[in-house]
Amino acid sequence: MAFINENYLKLQAGYLFPEIGRRVNEFIAANPDKKVIKMGIGDVTQPLVPSVVKAFHEGVEEMAKGNTFKGYGPEQGYGFLRDAIAKNSYHDRGVDISADDIFISDGSKCDTGNIQEIFGHENKIAICDPVYPVYADTTVMAGKTGVCQPNGYYDGIIYMPCTAENHFIPELPTKTPDLIFLCFPNNPTGTVATKEELKKWVDYAIKNNAIILYDAAYEAFITDENIPHSIYEIEGAKTVAIEFRSFSKTAGFTGTRCAFTVIPKELMAFDKAGNAHEVKKLWNRRHTTKFNGVSYPVQKAAAAIFSEEGKKEVQAVIDYYMENAKIMKASLAAAGYEVFGGVNAPYIWVKTKNGLKSWKFFDKLLNEANVVGTPGSGFGPAGEGYFRFSAFADRENVLEAMERIKSLSPTLS
Ligand SMILES: *Cc1c(COP(=O)(O)O)cnc(C)c1O
Repeated sequence: MAFINENYLKLQAGYLFPEIGRRVNEFIAANPDKKVIKMGIGDVTQPLVPSVVKAFHEGVEEMAKGNTFKGYGPEQGYGFLRDAIAKNSYHDRGVDISADDIFISDGSKCDTGNIQEIFGHENKIAICDPVYPVYADTTVMAGKTGVCQPNGYYDGIIYMPCTAENHFIPELPTKTPDLIFLCFPNNPTGTVATKEELKKWVDYAIKNNAIILYDAAYEAFITDENIPHSIYEIEGAKTVAIEFRSFSKTAGFTGTRCAFTVIPKELMAFDKAGNAHEVKKLWNRRHTTKFNGVSYPVQKAAAAIFSEEGKKEVQAVIDYYMENAKIMKASLAAAGYEVFGGVNAPYIWVKTKNGLKSWKFFDKLLNEANVVGTPGSGFGPAGEGYFRFSAFADRENVLEAMERIKSLSPTLS
């Protein structure tokens, strides 16, 4: 008889986006003449930039010729891409990260999930609430939790509420975790952590021999010069943090797939006898055993982001989204909403009026303005009463959606 991994039975059905889809489809079926504007899902809308497309084509051409054809590449990624990342994403910002501590992959979603595998079951995990659902679900799959409670919290996970009261930066937990997931700029709240705030976490991790799993998927959207782009900008972080980055949002690679994970050789974790081990070695073993590398044309396309032209083109697309965010933030504030995020991240996190529940606001917005967003409660209980708008949208849709929201009835009705 074959037995299943029963941890999968603990998982709650992926409820949020299917439920949004169901309500939107129902509305469209009943109102076929209405133009619905979608600002819900965190996927990019602008095409790949010309430098990237050119490099992508060149990569394919090389694969088409006998003398330039490439088979398996290094599992960790080609040297040209790892070097370009080390230089442009780290050294140029004064952060000393070595190219051989960088692992190229096909996505940060996979990496933030797969990383669980190299850590023991006994680790206690701390997760923010609201949160990107991948961290909790993969913790459950890895067997590190108990069952799910009615409020959506799994037994055994240490949840850290992020609300307006703490400026969406979690407080240090009262129970000591071994692994801490942090994501800045944050999805869904669009907020960022200052150097001081991150230092607090790095110092805490050093003191408790804990490891921070730092998701920096939105670092390219930071506009404020004082906000750190990498956790390694904080002294001591190389001994306690893994950083995840992705080209998905940075350069529109959500459908192209390329990301990377940094594990400095200084980072140690322990066996039961208390001996320290290089975490990087374990990840390298996992990566080379279970992964065979990102395709050559994709890595070539990714490296083009770091060319002079590529940098300018990618920045122009980011600026376009961030101009959307600025328009949205200003319009929503003018419509009387309390608004967070949107300055260093492509997400606007809105507090509903009069304590309206997130799903109630979703229905009101859909019915009265024909605009779709994401209910905050779908990201965790602390997201109740909030709503996420994504700036990944076309400008004319943003302008129209904001006009319509201004005319929303101010009452709860
Ligand atoms: C979009 C996103 C990612 C990127 O995932 P990929 O698999 O690289 O596309 C990572 N973390 C968060 C929080 C995200 O929103």
